Amino acid sequence: MIPIKTQNTTSWPQHLTQAITSLNDLIESLGLPKELITQGQDAQHSFKLLVPRPYLSRMEYGNPNDPLLRQVMPDAAEMLKVAGYNKDPLEEADHNPQKAIVHKYKRRLLVITTGTCAVNCRYCFRRHFPYGDNQLAQAEWQSVIDYLIAHPEVNEVILSGGDPLMMKDTLLANKVRQIEALPQIKRLRIHSRLPVVIPARVCDDMLDWIKQSRLDIIMVWHINHANEVDEELAQAAFKLKQAGVTLLNQGVLLKGINDSVEAQVNLSEAVFSAGILPYYMFTLDPVEGAAHFDVSIEEAQKLMGKVAAELPGYLVPKLAKEIPGQTSKTVFAPTFS
Ligand SMILES: *Cc1c(COP(=O)(O)O)cnc(C)c1O
Ligand code: SF4
Repeated sequence: MIPIKTQNTTSWPQHLTQAITSLNDLIESLGLPKELITQGQDAQHSFKLLVPRPYLSRMEYGNPNDPLLRQVMPDAAEMLKVAGYNKDPLEEADHNPQKAIVHKYKRRLLVITTGTCAVNCRYCFRRHFPYGDNQLAQAEWQSVIDYLIAHPEVNEVILSGGDPLMMKDTLLANKVRQIEALPQIKRLRIHSRLPVVIPARVCDDMLDWIKQSRLDIIMVWHINHANEVDEELAQAAFKLKQAGVTLLNQGVLLKGINDSVEAQVNLSEAVFSAGILPYYMFTLDPVEGAAHFDVSIEEAQKLMGKVAAELPGYLVPKLAKEIPGQTSKTVFAPTFS
């Protein structure tokens, strides 16, 4: 599908500064009852509310159960302590050999480029991550390059965060050039939710460095619901595709948001229409404050069995979980009943 062009007047940095940061503003913009303010207050203090306006514009006015709203709306349930849920569910602290690097899998390495995001997702597994210790100053980038030189088996670099696209393109371009200088690196992967919440992030400056790169570039989107895929997002994806980027999507299975056959089928159809292929559907990581979003593995496997009956194989994401200590993500087969 080729998207129709529309006028884009606000730049992505402007969208970042205009984002909603107060519960009051969020509630008012959507015409929701004021009681929701009191019930989200404590959660907001523990993990601040952050919602860019292009994302807000895809929410349904007056609907407190809107699937996009529920992903960003502070909720009293976040304050409950639940056994098995902790602050570092993936034990990243044990695989953090040096500042900004998470090296768990042999031939691919994750770089935490920045701690900030354009949106705060309530279920985020890094909501308690010690980003303060992992902020990467410009000069420190050299230490990442040195690590790659010392580990020549690594052939793919994954830029993660936070959100790597929070970095300005001049900085990104510069970092990518240094990675490109290492002949063993074949691929560059970008894991980002920024173009989902602010499609204008896919700007000309970004497309420029992408087109100049010798690396195979893969962008892994983070889209959880079909309503997140609007015309602007499809246009952004189309530009990336034209620039030669492989587009994949990974979502998180979230109770009450996308844990139905209909929601999953619509999501896969919507991302595919935008030129993006489903990659993973992750079960929730057991991070403190997110237990109310959990769908058990067994339920998830049954759900994916029903989803698989509705879609061609290439539109069924792999149901996956990150189990600390394993050499790759763990994939769970759909079950049929
Ligand atoms: C998830 C993850 C990756 C990427 O795994 P793929 O299965 O290749 O998508 C790489 N490194 C770390 C540390 C990860 O958590
Ligand atoms: S965009 Fe990703 S890293 Fe940022 S808050 Fe959301 S889930 Fe977490």
